[in-house]
Amino acid sequence: MKIIDTHAHYDDERFDIDRDLLINTMLDTDVENIINIGCSISRSKESVALAQKYDKIFAAVGVHPEEIYDLPDNYLDILRELSQNKKVVAIGEIGLDYHYESYDRQRQIKVFREQLALADELSLPAVIHSRDATEDTLNVLRELRPKKAVMHCFSGSAQTAREVLDMGLYISFTGVLTFKNAKKAVEACGIIPMDRLMLETDCPYMAPAPHRGERCISSMAKYTAAKLAEIKGISTDEAISVCNVNAKRFFGI
Ligand SMILES: [Zn+2]
Repeated sequence: MKIIDTHAHYDDERFDIDRDLLINTMLDTDVENIINIGCSISRSKESVALAQKYDKIFAAVGVHPEEIYDLPDNYLDILRELSQNKKVVAIGEIGLDYHYESYDRQRQIKVFREQLALADELSLPAVIHSRDATEDTLNVLRELRPKKAVMHCFSGSAQTAREVLDMGLYISFTGVLTFKNAKKAVEACGIIPMDRLMLETDCPYMAPAPHRGERCISSMAKYTAAKLAEIKGISTDEAISVCNVNAKRFFGI
């Protein structure tokens, strides 16, 4: 069964050598749709260009928390204008990332809040990135209550998953779910209702086992699907099918 990869970065330079061949091959064989996610203003533009080029690719536009430091003052206007394109289906990825020491917490929170508000203003779902920033991310979400959002690359606890679910949000898993040390994520996955789950790769990052460490591509989402199926006690095809339905509903594609 063909998979919808709800979070990919095919504008990444690691795809420069074979981007078109790779995308065409996957869309012909095992991938139904791809949502290509923006990380910065320039990469959001590249994301829209990819979606323009391929029928089955859609785009999200947004500024990742690590890309906020030289933002133009009118960045929200630029995102608003980009989102007028019919292939833009979400605002993302946006959020908080306290992984590297030099981060500016207040500035990250400000830009996250502004983009969450933009998503609601445009009636688009938000794709949320959170790394080492669970408490602040949940606080912003509790306060702004986005109408539709997904916590991407989820690796948090069952408790965090419950809080996210209580706010009506979706949760998506990358290859992290297949890692040997992913006990927390596996436990969290176990308590998430099937109608709130989505599959993603975050490619070229986060390749699932047995490809961990390699360049990730959307086809590899099948390993994450197999793990999800094992956790839920269903077949891999069933897991893919339900996640595809959820993705179509979530992104309106
Ligand atoms: Zn990403």
